Amino acid sequence: PKTAYVRTKPHLNIGTMGHVDHGKTTLTAAITKVLAERGTGTFVPFDRIDRAPEEAARGITINIAHVEYETDTRHYAHVDMPGHADYVKNMITGAAQLDGAILVVSALDGIMPQTAEHVLLARQVGVDHLVVALNKADAGDEELADLVELEVRELLTAQGYPGESVPVVRVSGLKALAGEPRWTASVEALLDAVDTYVPMPERYLDAPFLLPVENVLTITGRGTVVTGAVERGRLRVGDRVEVLGAGVHSVVTGLETFGRPMPEAQAGDNVAVLLRGVPRDAVRRGHVVAAPGSVVPGRRFTARVYVLAGAEGGRSTPLSTGYRPQFYLRTADVAGDVDLGAAGIARPGETVEMTVELDREVPLEPGLGFAIREGGRTVGAGTVTSVG
Ligand code: GDP
Ligand code: MG
Repeated sequence: PKTAYVRTKPHLNIGTMGHVDHGKTTLTAAITKVLAERGTGTFVPFDRIDRAPEEAARGITINIAHVEYETDTRHYAHVDMPGHADYVKNMITGAAQLDGAILVVSALDGIMPQTAEHVLLARQVGVDHLVVALNKADAGDEELADLVELEVRELLTAQGYPGESVPVVRVSGLKALAGEPRWTASVEALLDAVDTYVPMPERYLDAPFLLPVENVLTITGRGTVVTGAVERGRLRVGDRVEVLGAGVHSVVTGLETFGRPMPEAQAGDNVAVLLRGVPRDAVRRGHVVAAPGSVVPGRRFTARVYVLAGAEGGRSTPLSTGYRPQFYLRTADVAGDVDLGAAGIARPGETVEMTVELDREVPLEPGLGFAIREGGRTVGAGTVTSVG
């Protein structure tokens, strides 16, 4: 039998983000290599990370790779994604549920459009702690790296991060992967910065259990498994749950994290939950597994929404009542109708109140964050203020 997961250290979810080709995947592989050598992780080569399993959900392919490792003080689940669209989707839907992130910026190229967009997304979804990996430090000169560092600190400050004090660590994922001591040490320094700078988030362990479904799998002979990050509460084998969206009740018959059985899943854990008697096609990404009766799904809510400016990748024209974009709430994406009340319109760059009527019910509650997308781009970010 597989060895059980033993919870000896606090668990956090982190990830790499940044512009394509700045070295996110190489750095992810390098981190696992450095920690494998320390004996607290398993090396995951570049190819295994970059060819993450694809999930086709409602015609949209989502790529997300999870790797797992430990430092001296913490257990981490780390996500890396191949494409910009994957970041946008996973970050705004909260599928990545990042407690902190490593912003990878090539010291040769500096800030590029996706660097800026990921920082904006991180801010919107409440990733309050970023650590910067100034990557490819093996290839450029120090003065160029100094300039890029300044530029990154300015970008962070402009987006509401403490740009002066955010750790910026010069690394080379590529050379660390090749085992060069100077650069192996740089990756160690980066991990130390993550350990000390990203605080342990508050976990709502005593709240009723809630898991937004990220993926659904079938294990032959055992049944339907849903995966995702536990948003709140705890879950044990034998617990009763309801699957909102699927309209079914079930009992948990198995719980795993990274392929290892666990006695109890807690808020913040990345888990696979085996559900008794639930047909594979009844459950989808976007559904929510919850303690029975603990959440009430709805279609109508009011929200405070920031409409992205054109320069932030948003619209160049205002929204008006009757607008029908897609709403990304947890892992769900649902179309809905916007009502802007007396004002009737909302211009890019403005923060407005709106009432939304979704096409189908999802669990809603005040404080829930969401994104608004249209034609493959993010046009707004909001928070639910009241339901019903
Ligand atoms: P991603 O798109 O951000 O995941 O970037 P990759 O990890 O796929 O790397 C993109 C390219 O940059 C590849 O050719 C890597 O070999 C190269 N690269 C990554 N890290 C480094 C580094 O630290 N130094 C140098 N010189 N090249 C790097
Ligand atoms: Mg990559």
